[in-house]
Amino acid sequence: MPFGNTHNAFKMNYTAEQEYPDLSKHNNYMAKVLTPEIYESLRDKQTPSGFTLDDVIQTGVDNPGHPFIMTVGCVAGDEETYDVFKDLLDPVIEARHGGYKPTDKHKTDLNPENLQGGDDLDPNYVLSSRVRTGRSIRGLCLPPHCSRGERRAVENLAIESLGALDGDLKGKYYPLNKMTDQEQEQLIEDHFLFDKPVSPLLTCAGMARDWPDARGIWHNDNKTFLVWVNEEDHLRVISMQKGGNMRDVFTRFCTGLTKIESLFKDKGHEFMWNEHLGYVLTCPSNLGTGLRAGVHVKLPNMSKNEEFGEVLKRLRLQKRGTGGVDTAAVGGVFDISNADRLGFSEVELVQMVVDGVKLLVEMEKRLEKGQCIKDLIPDQK
Ligand code: ADP
Ligand code: MG
Repeated sequence: MPFGNTHNAFKMNYTAEQEYPDLSKHNNYMAKVLTPEIYESLRDKQTPSGFTLDDVIQTGVDNPGHPFIMTVGCVAGDEETYDVFKDLLDPVIEARHGGYKPTDKHKTDLNPENLQGGDDLDPNYVLSSRVRTGRSIRGLCLPPHCSRGERRAVENLAIESLGALDGDLKGKYYPLNKMTDQEQEQLIEDHFLFDKPVSPLLTCAGMARDWPDARGIWHNDNKTFLVWVNEEDHLRVISMQKGGNMRDVFTRFCTGLTKIESLFKDKGHEFMWNEHLGYVLTCPSNLGTGLRAGVHVKLPNMSKNEEFGEVLKRLRLQKRGTGGVDTAAVGGVFDISNADRLGFSEVELVQMVVDGVKLLVEMEKRLEKGQCIKDLIPDQK
């Protein structure tokens, strides 16, 4: 839709070679996988809702690389995208998700009792803890491809379903178009709300269309349980709080998410899911659990250590700036989260973050005292 896919047939007036994008300066998974042969074999296909190969890859064509993370370079427009374009997306998924094969099955575990510890990350270093995931509503196109009507239908379903949450989770929906600029800025600054769609990764994927129509945030009264509506995914479900009690955060996340799923089911709406991909989301990097568990953590010494990158890799963790995915760290405070989404269960991923962050904080304390961290360097997980 964003790129005029009704013209896809018209493009056939040109050869695949004439249409093939220039990927010579590119460093994203799509560019590594796409070949003229794959392009030629897929370019005349479309999903039932009309999402085409050029729609899938446009964001990766327009964004050769990213300064802080290795991007995927492609998006899905609907649930069927992953099937119709699997000759491209399977190898992208395999490359992004540590060798995850087309025959592999994904596992889900949303039982917080299975997490070991996690309530004792040192709050002198761990400023806040957060767990988020995405969910897509079956039968509706995803944000790169949805129409205004579909987007508003997602918003209405969210308002109806979330309105039934009670107790600690009772909250209210705040649509972006009814907020003042100042209210919106404050929510962004306090880390509760998604940024405005300034990132070219989003705009080039068509996800900023009609902004801010049908976008908003639902949250409980103390802003520890939040749902973003129509950002990168239909729904982003978030649990967060200050300090280092990841166990509390994850427990609330599981309870709330499970309730939301059953409220949607009651209204006859399932989330997109299959045995192989787990929960189906817009960005292939989020498939599976869609889960990013992370902390804002002070690591001024460790982050300057030459082993920082290697330690993160071995712990299967990822770093971002505290302003979100497109920001650099300021003052030695980082957003440290799990790098994987697929092939591990929710509990396993949160466990990696809990254990990994504990180790990073221990290393930070050693370095503060001018001590060596060599004996703490972990093996590859
Ligand atoms: P997401 O994975 O949710 O899309 P982003 O990197 O886009 O994450 O960040 C979205 C917002 O969430 C940003 O404002 C960011 O500061 C905030 N955020 C992410 N992790 C944490 C955390 N552990 N504590 C507080 N805020 C966080
Ligand atoms: Mg984001």
